[in-house]
Amino acid sequence: MLPAQYCSDQKGGVMKPISPDGDLTIPIHTSVIFSMNTPSTDSGLQYGRIGNRTRQALEEELARVHKTNAGFVTSSGSSAIVSICLLLSAGSTIVHHTELYDGTRRIFHSLLSKFGIRSISCDFNNRADVLRELRNNSPTMIWIETPTNPSLRVIDIKNIAQAAHTRKSIVVVDTTMCSGIVQQPISLGADIVVESLTKALNGHSDALGGFIGTDNASIEKQLRSIIQTIGPVLSPWECSLILRGLKTAALRIHAQQQNAMRVSKWLLHNPHISSVMTPGSFNNIEEHIRKSQMCGKGVLVSFILHKNIDPHRFITALRFIHIAHSFGGTETLIQQPSTMMDNSIVPVLQRPTDHLFRLSIGLDHVQDIIRDLRQAIEHGAG
Ligand code: PLP
Repeated sequence: MLPAQYCSDQKGGVMKPISPDGDLTIPIHTSVIFSMNTPSTDSGLQYGRIGNRTRQALEEELARVHKTNAGFVTSSGSSAIVSICLLLSAGSTIVHHTELYDGTRRIFHSLLSKFGIRSISCDFNNRADVLRELRNNSPTMIWIETPTNPSLRVIDIKNIAQAAHTRKSIVVVDTTMCSGIVQQPISLGADIVVESLTKALNGHSDALGGFIGTDNASIEKQLRSIIQTIGPVLSPWECSLILRGLKTAALRIHAQQQNAMRVSKWLLHNPHISSVMTPGSFNNIEEHIRKSQMCGKGVLVSFILHKNIDPHRFITALRFIHIAHSFGGTETLIQQPSTMMDNSIVPVLQRPTDHLFRLSIGLDHVQDIIRDLRQAIEHGAG
Protein backbone atom coordinates (compact mmCIF):
# COMPACT_ATOMS: atom_id res chain seq x y z
CA MET A 1 0.00 0.00 0.00
CA LEU A 2 1.31 3.46 -0.86
CA PRO A 3 1.84 5.69 2.18
CA ALA A 4 0.02 8.98 1.68
CA GLN A 5 2.38 11.66 0.43
CA TYR A 6 2.06 14.27 3.13
CA CYS A 7 -0.08 17.14 1.97
CA SER A 8 1.06 20.75 1.93
CA ASP A 9 -2.55 21.96 2.35
CA GLN A 10 -2.10 21.75 6.11
CA LYS A 11 -0.29 25.09 6.08
CA GLY A 12 -2.26 26.58 3.23
CA GLY A 13 -0.36 25.58 0.13
CA VAL A 14 3.13 25.15 -1.22
CA MET A 15 6.11 25.58 1.05
CA LYS A 16 7.63 29.03 0.56
CA PRO A 17 11.37 29.37 -0.09
CA ILE A 18 13.05 30.91 2.93
CA SER A 19 15.61 33.01 1.10
CA PRO A 20 15.12 35.94 -1.27
CA ASP A 21 16.94 33.84 -3.90
CA GLY A 22 14.20 31.20 -3.85
CA ASP A 23 16.44 28.26 -2.85
CA LEU A 24 14.72 24.91 -3.37
CA THR A 25 17.20 23.35 -0.99
CA ILE A 26 16.94 25.02 2.39
CA PRO A 27 20.24 26.83 3.13
CA ILE A 28 22.28 25.87 6.19
CA HIS A 29 21.95 28.86 8.50
CA THR A 30 25.00 28.85 10.72
CA SER A 31 24.80 32.02 12.81
CA VAL A 32 23.83 31.55 16.45
CA ILE A 33 24.17 35.23 17.38
CA PHE A 34 22.01 37.92 15.76
CA SER A 35 22.59 41.66 15.65
CA MET A 36 19.68 43.75 17.03
CA ASN A 37 18.55 47.24 15.96
CA THR A 38 17.68 48.24 19.53
CA PRO A 39 17.86 46.31 22.83
CA SER A 40 14.19 45.45 22.47
CA THR A 41 13.83 44.66 18.73
CA ASP A 42 15.18 41.42 17.31
CA SER A 43 14.55 39.35 14.19
CA GLY A 44 12.58 36.81 16.21
CA LEU A 45 15.54 34.45 16.29
CA GLN A 46 17.43 36.13 19.18
CA TYR A 47 19.96 33.36 19.77
CA GLY A 48 20.75 29.91 18.33
CA ARG A 49 18.98 28.07 21.13
CA ILE A 50 15.84 30.11 20.48
CA GLY A 51 15.66 30.19 16.68
CA ASN A 52 17.38 29.03 13.51
CA ARG A 53 16.08 29.28 9.94
CA THR A 54 17.14 25.76 8.87
CA ARG A 55 15.65 24.25 12.00
CA GLN A 56 12.43 26.22 11.55
CA ALA A 57 12.14 24.94 7.96
CA LEU A 58 12.52 21.36 9.20
CA GLU A 59 9.98 21.95 11.97
CA GLU A 60 7.44 23.26 9.46
CA GLU A 61 8.07 20.35 7.11
CA LEU A 62 7.65 17.81 9.92
CA ALA A 63 4.48 19.53 11.12
CA ARG A 64 3.12 18.88 7.62
CA VAL A 65 4.15 15.20 7.79
CA HIS A 66 2.50 14.77 11.18
CA LYS A 67 -0.43 17.12 10.41
CA THR A 68 0.20 19.13 13.58
CA ASN A 69 -0.03 22.87 14.22
CA ALA A 70 3.29 23.09 16.02
CA GLY A 71 6.50 21.13 15.96
CA PHE A 72 9.91 21.14 17.65
CA VAL A 73 13.05 19.50 16.38
CA THR A 74 15.46 18.21 19.00
CA SER A 75 18.97 16.74 19.07
CA SER A 76 17.70 13.13 19.24
CA GLY A 77 14.55 11.13 19.83
CA SER A 78 15.71 10.61 23.42
CA SER A 79 16.08 14.33 24.15
CA ALA A 80 12.60 14.82 22.67
CA ILE A 81 11.26 12.21 25.13
CA VAL A 82 13.00 13.87 28.09
CA SER A 83 11.71 17.30 27.02
CA ILE A 84 8.14 15.97 27.01
CA CYS A 85 8.67 14.42 30.45
CA LEU A 86 9.66 17.85 31.78
CA LEU A 87 5.98 18.79 31.45
CA LEU A 88 5.51 16.61 34.56
CA SER A 89 6.22 17.49 38.16
CA ALA A 90 6.99 15.56 41.33
CA GLY A 91 4.05 13.35 42.31
CA SER A 92 2.99 12.75 38.68
CA THR A 93 2.38 9.27 37.31
CA ILE A 94 3.04 7.94 33.81
CA VAL A 95 1.25 4.81 32.62
CA HIS A 96 2.83 2.95 29.70
CA HIS A 97 2.37 -0.35 27.89
CA THR A 98 4.36 -3.33 29.21
CA GLU A 99 6.49 -3.49 26.07
CA LEU A 100 8.43 -0.25 25.61
CA TYR A 101 11.62 0.99 23.88
CA ASP A 102 14.36 0.26 26.44
CA GLY A 103 15.68 3.85 26.34
CA THR A 104 12.26 5.24 27.25
CA ARG A 105 11.93 2.65 30.00
CA ARG A 106 15.30 3.80 31.38
CA ILE A 107 14.20 7.46 31.29
CA PHE A 108 10.97 6.60 33.12
CA HIS A 109 12.23 4.09 35.66
CA SER A 110 15.84 5.19 36.31
CA LEU A 111 15.77 8.97 35.76
CA LEU A 112 12.27 10.29 36.45
CA SER A 113 11.94 8.14 39.56
CA LYS A 114 14.73 10.28 41.14
CA PHE A 115 12.44 13.32 40.83
CA GLY A 116 9.35 11.76 42.37
CA ILE A 117 7.68 10.77 39.09
CA ARG A 118 6.21 7.27 39.11
CA SER A 119 5.91 4.96 36.09
CA ILE A 120 3.46 2.08 35.95
CA SER A 121 3.07 -0.42 33.16
CA CYS A 122 -0.05 -2.30 32.09
CA ASP A 123 -1.37 -4.15 29.05
CA PHE A 124 -2.66 -1.51 26.62
CA ASN A 125 -4.28 -4.26 24.53
CA ASN A 126 -6.58 -4.93 27.46
CA ARG A 127 -9.08 -2.09 27.90
CA ALA A 128 -10.05 -3.23 31.41
CA ASP A 129 -6.38 -2.94 32.51
CA VAL A 130 -6.09 0.57 31.11
CA LEU A 131 -9.35 1.69 32.75
CA ARG A 132 -8.21 0.23 36.09
CA GLU A 133 -4.90 2.16 35.97
CA LEU A 134 -6.71 5.36 34.96
CA ARG A 135 -9.17 4.93 37.84
CA ASN A 136 -6.63 3.91 40.48
CA ASN A 137 -3.73 6.21 39.64
CA SER A 138 -5.15 9.24 37.77
CA PRO A 139 -1.99 9.41 35.64
CA THR A 140 -0.82 12.77 34.34
CA MET A 141 0.53 11.09 31.22
CA ILE A 142 -0.29 8.03 29.14
CA TRP A 143 2.63 6.89 26.98
CA ILE A 144 1.79 4.84 23.90
CA GLU A 145 4.36 3.34 21.58
CA THR A 146 2.82 1.59 18.61
CA PRO A 147 3.68 -0.73 16.95
CA THR A 148 5.53 -2.13 19.94
CA ASN A 149 9.16 -3.19 19.94
CA PRO A 150 10.08 -5.97 19.19
CA SER A 151 6.70 -7.85 19.14
CA LEU A 152 5.11 -5.36 16.68
CA ARG A 153 1.77 -5.48 18.53
CA VAL A 154 -0.68 -2.72 17.58
CA ILE A 155 -2.19 -0.45 20.24
CA ASP A 156 -5.47 1.33 19.59
CA ILE A 157 -4.54 5.02 19.84
CA LYS A 158 -8.08 6.37 19.46
CA ASN A 159 -9.54 4.05 22.07
CA ILE A 160 -6.86 4.72 24.70
CA ALA A 161 -6.88 8.47 24.02
CA GLN A 162 -10.66 8.62 24.56
CA ALA A 163 -10.40 6.76 27.87
CA ALA A 164 -7.40 8.83 29.03
CA HIS A 165 -9.08 12.12 28.24
CA THR A 166 -11.98 11.32 30.55
CA ARG A 167 -9.33 11.47 33.32
CA LYS A 168 -7.59 14.54 31.84
CA SER A 169 -4.37 12.60 31.19
CA ILE A 170 -2.01 13.86 28.49
CA VAL A 171 -1.70 11.25 25.73
CA VAL A 172 1.74 10.91 24.11
CA VAL A 173 2.37 8.61 21.16
CA ASP A 174 5.85 7.60 20.07
CA THR A 175 5.40 6.79 16.39
CA THR A 176 9.06 6.04 15.63
CA MET A 177 8.48 2.34 14.95
CA CYS A 178 6.55 3.08 11.76
CA SER A 179 7.25 6.84 11.19
CA GLY A 180 4.93 9.80 10.70
CA ILE A 181 4.58 8.88 7.04
CA VAL A 182 2.68 5.73 8.04
CA GLN A 183 0.87 6.91 11.20
CA GLN A 184 -0.21 10.38 12.40
CA PRO A 185 -1.33 10.05 16.04
CA ILE A 186 -2.55 13.63 16.54
CA SER A 187 -5.40 13.00 14.10
CA LEU A 188 -6.26 9.90 16.18
CA GLY A 189 -6.65 11.90 19.39
CA ALA A 190 -3.13 12.06 20.85
CA ASP A 191 -2.06 15.32 22.51
CA ILE A 192 1.63 14.93 21.66
CA VAL A 193 3.45 12.93 19.01
CA VAL A 194 7.13 12.13 19.27
CA GLU A 195 9.40 10.54 16.70
CA SER A 196 13.10 9.74 16.45
CA LEU A 197 14.19 11.27 13.14
CA THR A 198 17.32 9.13 13.37
CA LYS A 199 15.27 6.27 11.91
CA ALA A 200 13.10 6.26 8.76
CA LEU A 201 12.45 9.96 8.22
CA ASN A 202 16.13 10.79 7.78
CA GLY A 203 16.70 7.24 6.60
CA HIS A 204 20.38 7.56 5.66
CA SER A 205 21.99 6.63 9.00
CA ASP A 206 23.95 9.88 9.16
CA ALA A 207 22.07 12.14 11.59
CA LEU A 208 20.43 11.90 15.00
CA GLY A 209 17.27 13.91 15.55
CA GLY A 210 13.93 14.03 17.30
CA PHE A 211 10.54 15.64 16.65
CA ILE A 212 7.73 16.65 18.98
CA GLY A 213 4.39 17.74 17.52
CA THR A 214 1.21 19.01 19.14
CA ASP A 215 -2.04 20.83 18.36
CA ASN A 216 -2.56 21.87 21.98
CA ALA A 217 -1.62 25.56 22.41
CA SER A 218 -0.93 25.28 26.14
CA ILE A 219 1.34 22.22 25.69
CA GLU A 220 3.08 23.98 22.78
CA LYS A 221 3.82 27.01 24.96
CA GLN A 222 5.22 24.86 27.78
CA LEU A 223 7.34 22.77 25.40
CA ARG A 224 8.73 25.90 23.71
CA SER A 225 9.80 27.22 27.09
CA ILE A 226 11.35 23.86 28.13
CA ILE A 227 13.29 23.50 24.87
CA GLN A 228 14.46 27.12 24.78
CA THR A 229 15.57 26.91 28.40
CA ILE A 230 17.53 23.65 28.29
CA GLY A 231 18.57 23.78 24.60
CA PRO A 232 18.28 20.19 23.28
CA VAL A 233 18.18 21.64 19.73
CA LEU A 234 19.50 20.11 16.52
CA SER A 235 22.37 21.76 14.64
CA PRO A 236 21.53 23.25 11.22
CA TRP A 237 23.90 20.77 9.57
CA GLU A 238 21.88 17.78 10.76
CA CYS A 239 18.63 19.65 10.03
CA SER A 240 19.81 20.00 6.45
CA LEU A 241 20.56 16.26 6.18
CA ILE A 242 17.13 15.40 7.55
CA LEU A 243 15.44 17.89 5.19
CA ARG A 244 17.12 16.02 2.34
CA GLY A 245 16.07 12.64 3.76
CA LEU A 246 12.48 13.87 4.00
CA LYS A 247 12.33 14.60 0.27
CA THR A 248 12.38 10.86 -0.46
CA ALA A 249 10.92 9.49 2.80
CA ALA A 250 7.47 8.54 1.47
CA LEU A 251 8.92 6.81 -1.59
CA ARG A 252 11.62 5.02 0.39
CA ILE A 253 9.19 3.81 3.01
CA HIS A 254 6.78 2.61 0.33
CA ALA A 255 9.52 0.55 -1.36
CA GLN A 256 10.82 -0.76 1.99
CA GLN A 257 7.29 -1.78 3.03
CA GLN A 258 6.92 -3.75 -0.22
CA ASN A 259 10.22 -5.51 0.47
CA ALA A 260 9.17 -6.18 4.08
CA MET A 261 5.93 -7.83 2.93
CA ARG A 262 7.85 -10.14 0.60
CA VAL A 263 10.39 -11.05 3.27
CA SER A 264 7.67 -11.75 5.85
CA LYS A 265 5.84 -14.01 3.37
CA TRP A 266 9.05 -15.90 2.69
CA LEU A 267 9.70 -16.32 6.44
CA LEU A 268 6.12 -17.53 7.00
CA HIS A 269 6.71 -20.40 4.57
CA ASN A 270 10.10 -21.36 5.95
CA PRO A 271 9.93 -24.55 8.11
CA HIS A 272 12.81 -23.32 10.32
CA ILE A 273 10.81 -20.29 11.48
CA SER A 274 8.31 -20.88 14.27
CA SER A 275 6.68 -17.44 14.28
CA VAL A 276 6.61 -14.27 12.17
CA MET A 277 5.41 -10.94 13.57
CA THR A 278 4.29 -7.87 11.62
CA PRO A 279 1.87 -5.16 12.79
CA GLY A 280 -1.62 -6.68 12.79
CA SER A 281 -0.44 -10.29 12.54
CA PHE A 282 -1.25 -11.03 16.20
CA ASN A 283 -5.03 -11.31 15.64
CA ASN A 284 -7.89 -9.92 13.55
CA ILE A 285 -8.70 -7.22 16.09
CA GLU A 286 -5.20 -5.76 15.85
CA GLU A 287 -5.26 -6.06 12.05
CA HIS A 288 -8.49 -4.06 12.05
CA ILE A 289 -6.92 -1.38 14.28
CA ARG A 290 -3.78 -1.33 12.15
CA LYS A 291 -5.81 -0.66 9.02
CA SER A 292 -7.63 2.20 10.73
CA GLN A 293 -4.50 3.95 12.03
CA MET A 294 -1.56 2.92 9.84
CA CYS A 295 -0.99 3.31 6.14
CA GLY A 296 0.83 0.01 5.53
CA LYS A 297 2.73 -2.19 7.99
CA GLY A 298 6.03 -0.34 8.31
CA VAL A 299 9.42 -1.82 7.52
CA LEU A 300 10.00 -4.06 10.55
CA VAL A 301 9.54 -7.82 10.66
CA SER A 302 10.23 -9.88 13.79
CA PHE A 303 10.56 -13.64 13.79
CA ILE A 304 11.39 -16.56 16.07
CA LEU A 305 13.74 -19.25 14.82
CA HIS A 306 12.78 -22.85 15.37
CA LYS A 307 14.40 -24.40 18.47
CA ASN A 308 16.70 -26.60 16.36
CA ILE A 309 18.46 -23.57 14.83
CA ASP A 310 21.40 -22.13 16.75
CA PRO A 311 20.64 -18.38 17.02
CA HIS A 312 24.28 -17.35 17.40
CA ARG A 313 25.41 -19.42 14.41
CA PHE A 314 22.51 -17.96 12.41
CA ILE A 315 23.14 -14.28 13.12
CA THR A 316 26.92 -14.45 12.73
CA ALA A 317 26.53 -16.22 9.35
CA LEU A 318 24.70 -13.23 7.81
CA ARG A 319 26.86 -11.65 5.11
CA PHE A 320 24.59 -9.04 3.56
CA ILE A 321 22.29 -7.98 6.40
CA HIS A 322 24.04 -5.84 9.02
CA ILE A 323 23.82 -6.60 12.73
CA ALA A 324 23.06 -3.14 14.10
CA HIS A 325 20.95 -1.15 16.51
CA SER A 326 18.36 1.12 14.92
CA PHE A 327 15.93 0.61 12.05
CA GLY A 328 14.07 2.37 9.25
CA GLY A 329 17.05 3.30 7.04
CA THR A 330 18.02 2.25 3.55
CA GLU A 331 20.16 -0.72 4.66
CA THR A 332 18.65 -3.98 5.92
CA LEU A 333 19.53 -4.48 9.60
CA ILE A 334 18.98 -7.25 12.12
CA GLN A 335 18.82 -7.06 15.88
CA GLN A 336 18.76 -9.81 18.50
CA PRO A 337 16.70 -8.22 21.30
CA SER A 338 17.93 -10.66 23.98
CA THR A 339 21.53 -9.46 23.59
CA MET A 340 21.18 -6.03 22.00
CA MET A 341 18.43 -4.45 24.09
CA ASP A 342 18.89 -3.36 27.70
CA ASN A 343 16.87 -6.11 29.38
CA SER A 344 18.18 -5.39 32.88
CA ILE A 345 15.16 -3.19 33.58
CA VAL A 346 12.62 -5.48 31.91
CA PRO A 347 10.61 -7.84 34.19
CA VAL A 348 12.07 -11.38 33.91
CA LEU A 349 8.90 -12.86 32.40
CA GLN A 350 8.96 -10.35 29.54
CA ARG A 351 12.61 -10.88 28.56
CA PRO A 352 12.98 -11.98 24.94
CA THR A 353 14.27 -15.41 23.92
CA ASP A 354 17.61 -15.72 22.07
CA HIS A 355 15.64 -17.11 19.11
CA LEU A 356 13.80 -13.82 18.55
CA PHE A 357 15.14 -11.44 15.88
CA ARG A 358 13.94 -8.11 14.51
CA LEU A 359 14.65 -7.22 10.89
CA SER A 360 14.52 -3.68 9.54
CA ILE A 361 14.03 -4.07 5.82
CA GLY A 362 15.90 -1.58 3.66
CA LEU A 363 15.97 -0.64 0.00
CA ASP A 364 18.15 -3.61 -0.97
CA HIS A 365 17.03 -6.00 -3.66
CA VAL A 366 14.62 -8.35 -1.90
CA GLN A 367 16.36 -11.43 -3.35
CA ASP A 368 19.64 -10.38 -1.71
CA ILE A 369 17.87 -10.19 1.66
CA ILE A 370 16.12 -13.56 1.24
CA ARG A 371 19.25 -15.30 -0.07
CA ASP A 372 21.23 -14.09 2.95
CA LEU A 373 18.54 -15.22 5.41
CA ARG A 374 18.34 -18.63 3.70
CA GLN A 375 22.08 -19.32 3.85
CA ALA A 376 22.32 -18.10 7.48
CA ILE A 377 19.38 -20.30 8.55
CA GLU A 378 21.06 -23.31 6.86
CA HIS A 379 24.26 -22.43 8.70
CA GLY A 380 22.34 -22.22 11.99
CA ALA A 381 20.83 -25.65 11.33
CA GLY A 382 24.28 -27.04 10.53
N1 PLP B 1 11.69 5.92 20.38
C1 PLP B 1 11.86 4.71 19.87
C2 PLP B 1 10.65 3.83 19.67
C3 PLP B 1 13.12 4.23 19.56
O1 PLP B 1 13.27 2.98 19.09
C4 PLP B 1 14.24 5.09 19.76
C5 PLP B 1 15.60 4.63 19.45
O2 PLP B 1 15.84 3.51 19.07
C6 PLP B 1 14.02 6.35 20.30
C7 PLP B 1 12.72 6.75 20.58
C8 PLP B 1 15.17 7.26 20.63
O3 PLP B 1 15.67 7.89 19.49
P1 PLP B 1 17.17 8.40 19.35
O4 PLP B 1 18.02 7.19 19.16
O5 PLP B 1 17.12 9.29 18.15
O6 PLP B 1 17.53 9.11 20.59
